[in-house]
Amino acid sequence: MRLQTTCSLSMILFLSSHVFADETQPDFTDPQITAIAHVEKISNELKQVNQSIWEWAEVGLEERKSSRLLQSKLTAAGFKVETGLAGMPTAFVASFGSGKPVIGILAEYDALPGLSQKISPQREAAEEGKPGHACGHSGLGTGALGAALAVRQAMEQHGLPGTIRLYGTPAEETVIGKVYMTLDGVFDDLDICLHWHPGTKNEAWSGSSKALVSAKFTFHGTAAHASVSPASGRSALDGVELMNVAANFMREHIKEDARLHYVIVDGGGAPNVVAPQATVWYFCRADSHEDTEYNFRWLNDIAEAAAKMSRTRLTVKIDTDCHEVIPNSPLSALITTIMQKIGAPKFTDTEMAFARRLQEPLVAQFGRQFPLAIDDRIHRVAAIPRASKGSTDVGDISWRVPTGGLRTACLPAESPGHSWQNVASIGSSIGEKGIIYSSKILAVTAIELMQRRELIAAARSDWQTRMKDKKYFSFIPDGQQPPKKIR
Ligand SMILES: [Zn+2]
Repeated sequence: MRLQTTCSLSMILFLSSHVFADETQPDFTDPQITAIAHVEKISNELKQVNQSIWEWAEVGLEERKSSRLLQSKLTAAGFKVETGLAGMPTAFVASFGSGKPVIGILAEYDALPGLSQKISPQREAAEEGKPGHACGHSGLGTGALGAALAVRQAMEQHGLPGTIRLYGTPAEETVIGKVYMTLDGVFDDLDICLHWHPGTKNEAWSGSSKALVSAKFTFHGTAAHASVSPASGRSALDGVELMNVAANFMREHIKEDARLHYVIVDGGGAPNVVAPQATVWYFCRADSHEDTEYNFRWLNDIAEAAAKMSRTRLTVKIDTDCHEVIPNSPLSALITTIMQKIGAPKFTDTEMAFARRLQEPLVAQFGRQFPLAIDDRIHRVAAIPRASKGSTDVGDISWRVPTGGLRTACLPAESPGHSWQNVASIGSSIGEKGIIYSSKILAVTAIELMQRRELIAAARSDWQTRMKDKKYFSFIPDGQQPPKKIR
């Protein structure tokens, strides 16, 4: 390892093919070497943290033990921890150091309902009907923790000026935590925000994502005996059904990237009672928040019309309103280079065989072909980055501060999101390797930004250009507190 600062940004941006070969020399600064060594030193502790959060598998806004565990590790390392951010008991921020630059790293730790799974190649619940970490957030929180602890070690040992913060952001699965934290202004003084997500490959985040409004439409009718006195009743379920029919017609006339999906969370109690109340829960998404605004207003008009048609009354509750990610080219280029310099973990034959077994049911059911068991290559940023078809509440932060992110291979190649296979994999040594790698990448990136302020300036300039004509608007009413529970 040569002890000098790193290659220039222009060189980073010049890279062109899609997968790195192993030809470049790693060169890290002393603080970066310290950070990498620290991640190695605490790797067993990090694996235990992942294991605990994985076993607890707490759903959004109920991640009490997971949040407390992360906080306790940070407090023990000398971070100042503040909890209950934006009115959410499981949200927190842990800070170390002082002054500029201020670099934030995001942690998530919520699980998904009904996806409990053993570390087994067959579908086998650890506890029937219980939640599981099918999005790998046990690893996400752990990887972010490892990075924050490593940056702290480097700051202390080398006298690096600045502030490192780890944000504990609950309820990502319903894109709630970071949205309300953003509205509360907790990210506003960051210079750069960094995030990562367990994935099926190693690559910097370079594209956008979908904006999403989540809202519950409740129709209020009049109960009556459905057979004896239907003329005295007004059905709230009729309101829901009329709304859904119209929304399904609306689909034909919205842009192809837009999405509408719904579930009826309350359709009444019994067929022989005219439903006095019924609720439908909608996600309204599009590649831009601007389009989401247009479509959501349309959907509201439909709901009001459905209430009129069914002679019911409508109330609408906005749960959350999440914005698309604003990508940042200098940050994705920097992260890509650092991923390459550190080098991706290799997987053993046993791990590869386990990944193959996890892929088997998908081969059998859908005839899918998987050329790779685990994709351990490092992918370059595509010339035209693809937008994710999902949503993340990281988006809202990226509307406030320049934000960069990455994924590492923690899951079998091409493994579908939110699958039981992912629960098994993030709890296994495959996931652990990706988690440890993410800690190193995030830590080295944060230190690079602290040591080379011109990179922060480049990221800010890119962000300013992308934000030039954008105005942050939210459907969430002013002062509304986040929900206490998801459902
Ligand atoms: Zn996720």
